[in-house]
This record gives sequence, structure tokens and C-alpha cells, in this order.
Amino acid sequence: TYVVTDACIRCKYMDCVEVCPVDCFYEGENMLVINPNECIDCGVCEPECPAEAILPDTESDLEKWLEVNATFSAQWPNL
Ligand code: SF4
Repeated sequence: TYVVTDACIRCKYMDCVEVCPVDCFYEGENMLVINPNECIDCGVCEPECPAEAILPDTESDLEKWLEVNATFSAQWPNL
């Protein structure tokens, strides 16, 4: 799965949302998150993010952000 990190906070540029084929972005007040259960790992959102906030969960030290994405995608509205 891909993960949105803190570089997204107050950016919300939204081009990632436009390209996602499975609409798995969710929006909170300050940032977006990806639902890890819905993401199909296609990777098309990653280069669309001007803040480089979206990373594959294969990168190291993303456990915390993966948890944030999983938790808040269950609570925030879908985009
Ligand atoms: Fe959507 Fe693909 Fe990005 Fe996953 S990797 S959030 S499926 S655009």
C-alpha cells in the first residue's frame, strides 16, 4: 500500500485524488490519508504529489504513518 505522510499537512493539493483508480483517499481537516485496505498499490499518485508526501510502505520508518492512514481512513469522508 501507499501511505500519506506529514508532508501533506496543510497542502491538500488533491491531484493524487484525481488520479487514484479506486478512490481510496480520505480527507481530514489538515491532511489526506489512503485506506490501506483499498489501495491497489498502482503507484500513480506518488509522482502527482508536489509535497512528496506519498510513499510506498516498503520505505523504512513508515509504521507510524501507516497506522495513521489506516485509523483515519476509517473515520474521515471518502474523496
Ligand atoms: Fe490510489 Fe494507486 Fe495511490 Fe493506491 S497507489 S492510493 S490505488 S493511486
